[in-house]
Amino acid sequence: MRAHPAGPRHGEGQPSGGAPVRPRDPAELARLDPRVWCTTAQRGPGGELVLGGCGVSTLAAQYGTPLFVMDEMDVRQRAAAFRSAYDVPEAPADVYYAAKAFLSATLVRWLVEAGLSVDVCTGGELALVVRAGVPGERILFHGNNKSVAELSAGLDAQVHRFVVDSDVEIDRLAALAAARGLVADVLVRVTVGVEAHTHEFIATAHEDQKFGFSLASGAASQAVRRIAAQPSLRLVGLHSHIGSQIFDSDGFDVAAHRVVGFAATVRDEHAIPVEELNLGGGMGIAYLPSDDPLDAEHMAAQLRSIVQRECLAADLPVPRLAVEPGRAIVGPAGVTVYEVGTVKPVELDQGVVRAYVSVDGGMSDNIRTALYDADYCVVLASRVSLAEPMLCRVVGKHCESGDVVVRDAWLPADLAPGDLLAVAATGAYCRAMASTYNLVPRPAVVGVRDGRAAVLLRRETMEDLLRLDPGL
Ligand SMILES: *Cc1c(COP(=O)(O)O)cnc(C)c1O
Repeated sequence: MRAHPAGPRHGEGQPSGGAPVRPRDPAELARLDPRVWCTTAQRGPGGELVLGGCGVSTLAAQYGTPLFVMDEMDVRQRAAAFRSAYDVPEAPADVYYAAKAFLSATLVRWLVEAGLSVDVCTGGELALVVRAGVPGERILFHGNNKSVAELSAGLDAQVHRFVVDSDVEIDRLAALAAARGLVADVLVRVTVGVEAHTHEFIATAHEDQKFGFSLASGAASQAVRRIAAQPSLRLVGLHSHIGSQIFDSDGFDVAAHRVVGFAATVRDEHAIPVEELNLGGGMGIAYLPSDDPLDAEHMAAQLRSIVQRECLAADLPVPRLAVEPGRAIVGPAGVTVYEVGTVKPVELDQGVVRAYVSVDGGMSDNIRTALYDADYCVVLASRVSLAEPMLCRVVGKHCESGDVVVRDAWLPADLAPGDLLAVAATGAYCRAMASTYNLVPRPAVVGVRDGRAAVLLRRETMEDLLRLDPGL
């Protein structure tokens, strides 16, 4: 596993495995694998891609490209599946949607309707969900550098939980809560020395990263003491987040063992019961048909039984469980629609030709390929073609050779400017991480359902961008 310099939490990259096998039958190129595409994706009568009952050509004509399309039913079904998997009658639990994956007011309302709460990690995310009408008791506040203004906003919104991440923050929050005559409920974020990704995890004693208090060094224990000394803070539980794009429960098993061990220490040394155990997010999704993440139901059952087993061993009452999925709620529901601008054959070794297919977006709307070597499925979306498969690299329009959307793909050899391409599973960490690099305005996001489309985020205009420059 390769850790990205930005930190282990972002080390989700795997070296690219090279080109997928050349499909034998050109008709395979049009196939929409249900493991990867959103639930309503299908080919319409003329062969074009239809999402939520809306043809992509019509969507592109109305809203422009690049365009993010979100399948509303897919999001709602996944949210409901998480809720029913985790929050069972014999063990009530909380599912917090990690807002950083993608955030819009309408989307957040779908999730709240499905019974989810929301995790935010900045004042901006907090402001949006508060203004969207999410009640404070459904909000959890993360972040390793919450400012006085952000903590104050959190207290004003009466957020349900603050996940504290440093001594400075504990003192800051205690003072602000005391000044308001409030008692803030906090979780301590602990780093347990587990870093998980797909089917792998690394377990160490120490973790060299910015988040949390380490168990091994005793920092977590000191944080508990610091909180216990503050009458304006109440320690309700512990938090651990071990990685992203995780396909099985092995890493969670080790993490839960360590956190529950610490919960026993908190009881024994500080006489504080740990009522809540938040195991964070990171539940994976299929970007490729070969990806095989555990579904919510099986992951939930395994996490529950791991926590029960550990608590039994430590002679602790089983705390209320919480999880924070982001990607697994919105990732599979999103599709990016691009228009092809140019197709350029480039000769590689031994006469092999790769077509560089340039689209009208790129690293400004999907940085994950450049940042994490992420892999995606891409198809010709505006029509079907029976032309022979052609080895392609789908690239953006930015001035960087690393501006790649899909590194290796097979697309029909008659692909031409004006065709639409669709990239699957772009609902998480694409629009949310979008930039205006090269002064390319950020794309719109539309929700689709039953043949109707509604704007979740409007397209940024050139005027939006130019307005920021007072020299103009
Ligand atoms: C990013 C993050 C999440 C969500 O991660 P996903 O991989 O999108 O599920 C949850 N909790 C914390 C603390 C995070 O940093």
